[in-house]
Amino acid sequence: MNVRDQAARIQAQIIELRRHFHMYPEPSWEEVNTSARIAEELSKLGISVRRLAKTGLVGTLKGGKPGKTVALRADIDALSIQEETGLPFASQNKGFMHACGHDCHIACLLGAATILSKFKDEIAGTVKFIFQPAEESVEGAKLMVAEGAMDGVDAVFGMHVLAELPVGTVNIAPGPRMASADMFKIKIEGQGGHGSAPHRGVDAILVGSALIMNLQSLVSREFNPLEPVVVHVGKLVSGDRFNIIASRAILEGTNRTFNADIRQQLPKTMQRIVDNTAAAYRATAELEYNWGCPPLVNDASLTQIVQGTVKKLYGEESLVSMPPLTVSEDFPFYAEKAPGAYAFLGVGNAEKGIGWPLHHAHFDVDENALKIGTALYAQFALDYLAVK
Ligand code: MN
Repeated sequence: MNVRDQAARIQAQIIELRRHFHMYPEPSWEEVNTSARIAEELSKLGISVRRLAKTGLVGTLKGGKPGKTVALRADIDALSIQEETGLPFASQNKGFMHACGHDCHIACLLGAATILSKFKDEIAGTVKFIFQPAEESVEGAKLMVAEGAMDGVDAVFGMHVLAELPVGTVNIAPGPRMASADMFKIKIEGQGGHGSAPHRGVDAILVGSALIMNLQSLVSREFNPLEPVVVHVGKLVSGDRFNIIASRAILEGTNRTFNADIRQQLPKTMQRIVDNTAAAYRATAELEYNWGCPPLVNDASLTQIVQGTVKKLYGEESLVSMPPLTVSEDFPFYAEKAPGAYAFLGVGNAEKGIGWPLHHAHFDVDENALKIGTALYAQFALDYLAVK
């Protein structure tokens, strides 16, 4: 089968599906209609469907010959953003929008399912189609894995649309591609009093300010300068009135890194700075650390297969390089169970004015990219299963 031609042939159908999902976006854990429509489409293709992780599903296509099992993953949730694109198929669900392109991911994966089911007798092995809820809250993948989405899977592949890359291009590279994302909250306890008598209180605002400064020294003095680390405090709440000493302060922030070891060290080093900074100012402080998602690190040999797939489908020039991104994804939870690879699909088009970043109210894609995403999912599955 020529996957590239097959994808081009069903382009209109893929675009129609994308527009449907785009019109009816549903937020994390509420993807009820989205999920029902996906199940309906998979069933039409004769693919068996298992519902799991609340609004998630896994379709299983057994090939005509024995072989390995490969999983293709798409995420299905939308964001709470009011769409401002003015497109004829703009969101009909007020306040919600597919501003992260997950509508495209669904359409591409259903496109791949359409192609692969047509030629299933030729397939040596099994293809699992993972449709995951709640990626935006980085909760979905974890639950999908816990409920068995990766059982028996030998390799997993996912992709994300990116308007910064022009349509017709794909990026896939080995090693770290997206950063980890963890959250922290620091509660500082001082002692209130009159602002005119600082010696009779413990100023929690001063402690919080010192802490924000000291935490930045982690980045410059605790870790190898060749390893990027972001320690970001995005919220500081404290104080009641200009002439009162603040007795409490709360800081909230997030850490990002591409290095799994540094990720583990961060809360320990933070704890030391939190405890000692607070003590230096006669205050106490408590660090609450919430693990989000690990860095996304592409398996080297799997990446090589995907690179071969891209070149085979659209030529050497379609494979482009791109530095890693400090945003994150919950795809790494699948990759903890089997080798994983994650690609970026170019959907930008400067001539059409398409280039808004993800999560923007004007986010849009060049729909000519959808057949490419479809072909990439399908051809990768075939190429992986063909490797003995
Ligand atoms: Mn996304």
